[in-house]
Parts: sequence; C-alpha cells; structure tokens
Amino acid sequence: MRTVRSVADLRAALAGPRRDGRTIGLVPTMGALHQGHLSLVRRARADTDVVVVSLFVNPAQFAPTEDLAAYPRDEARDAELAEKAGADLLFAPPVDEVYPPGFATTVRVGGVSEPLEGAQRGASHFDGVATVVTKLLNMAGPDVAYFGQKDAQQAAVVRRVVRDLDLPVRIEVCPTVREPDGLAMSSRNAYLTADERARAVALKHALDAARAAVEQGERDAAAVASAAAAPMRALDVEPEYLALVDPESFLPVDSIDRDVLVAVAARVGKARLIDNATIRRAR
Ligand code: AMP
Repeated sequence: MRTVRSVADLRAALAGPRRDGRTIGLVPTMGALHQGHLSLVRRARADTDVVVVSLFVNPAQFAPTEDLAAYPRDEARDAELAEKAGADLLFAPPVDEVYPPGFATTVRVGGVSEPLEGAQRGASHFDGVATVVTKLLNMAGPDVAYFGQKDAQQAAVVRRVVRDLDLPVRIEVCPTVREPDGLAMSSRNAYLTADERARAVALKHALDAARAAVEQGERDAAAVASAAAAPMRALDVEPEYLALVDPESFLPVDSIDRDVLVAVAARVGKARLIDNATIRRAR
C-alpha cells in the first residue's frame, strides 16, 4: 500500500489502472480506524480492483464547539490497518490540499440534511460533509464509494448529492459493525470512561426496545418512541433526539405502516454518539 498526499499524486496513481479498465473503490474516512471502517475496506476489496482509503479529518464538518482538535489521529496505525484490510492506496491530504487559499464553494443539500443531525449540529455540518465527499469523489473518480449505515443520514445526503449532481459513481451503504454488547463502533467511543462505556449501550437498547414494541404489534410512532426511551432513562442517558423517520426523507412518521428508521443521538460524557435501526413494515 502506498500513501499519497496530493490530488496530483492520487490521480497519477489511478491513471494506469483506470486506463486498463480496472475498477476503483473509495472508502472515505476521518481515520482512527476501527472494524466498522475496515468492513467497508474489505467490501471494497471484494468488489473492486483498486481500493483507495481516504483519511482526512474534515474541519468543515465540525462546528466551532465540537471536537475537531481532540479528534483521535494516528496515521501510522491507520495505514497498517487499512493495508491489512486490503487497501492499495491511502490518500491522506493536508488541509490546504483540500481547502486551498481562496476556497469559496459549498455543496449544500436541502431537505434530507435538515432534520435530526442537521438540526442538532447546524446546517454547516452536512454542508461540510457534502462538500468534502463531492471533492473526494472528483479527486479519486471511483466507480464505487462505500459508506456506513451507522451514519444513515450522511449516507442519504451523499446519495442525494450524487443523484442531483449526476456524479458518475455508485454508492454502497454497508451494515453497522457493533461491539459484542451492541454499541455501534465509532472513533468517538475512545472518549468514553469505563462508566460511560457501560452506559453507552443505552442507544442500542433503545433501538432494540423500539423493534420489540413494533414486533408486539404497536403501530403508533409516539408509543414506539416512548417504549424506546425507557431503557435510556434506566441507564441515565438523555437522548438529543429519538425519532422515527422515513429512511429516505428523514421526515417524522406517525405510524409504522411502512419501513421506518429509528434514529437516536445522545451525549455520554464527552462523546456524542449516534445510532439507528431500520424497522421493516410488518407484512
Ligand atoms: P468516519 O471516519 O466516522 O467519518 O466514518 C467513515 C465511514 O465509516 C462512514 O461512511 C461511516 O458511516 C462508516 N462507519 C463508521 N462507523 C461505522 C460502523 N460502526 N459500522 C459501519 N460503518 C461505519
């Protein structure tokens, strides 16, 4: 595996394989790689001929009050893990390679970017995500790009950009990888103390409780949400939101008469955690 830091070097490395008709897979990450990220790399390895992992902690998607400075960074470890999982190229650009002096363009997605994460973190969060993903897709020109269902709203925003701007890439969204107790893997789990780590499973318990309520016949979204809130209260974790939404538009649903996404966010100590699950319509 080679590490490249400039767009020119990335394109030079991919020009030959592209000319030979080999397919390119891109896995965009902010590093601090864990098994969730590596599942995307392995999937890209299985699907495509040349696997590019990008490693870029994107300042544009962090609000000034968020954890940009504290975000875990360990490129040497990430490089080793990415290579073992099958990456051919690690693209690790410095900030000014992505945002050169005078940078003044933003990709803003309406609609799906507005509720939940967009409302909590502010519009600039998904502006930053949409802009950097558009740039990474233009830099690497992959045939397929891989994202995690863990960040379901982000994946929906990316699908929207790709459709709306006619970007020539297929987007694959891969299942959430979890710790043995159910906690969704996240680079931010590193912030948790032992006590907080034990309580962090509250988000997964909420999703399980929502599913159980629907399996028992509950169809009213507010009642399902209230059933989901109970295990969070028991672990003293206050949701920022706990919402039943349409999986494409992310608008709230009133009743479980179709596939519904249960999405939850909560702060546990210094970590802001998110998780979600799809509840299939009972047929
Ligand atoms: P991040 O480095 O957090 O920006 O994540 C990079 C990619 O990995 C995104 O597409 C995430 O959705 C995905 N990802 C993060 N955590 C997980 C997980 N636990 N399971 C599957 N994919 C994940």
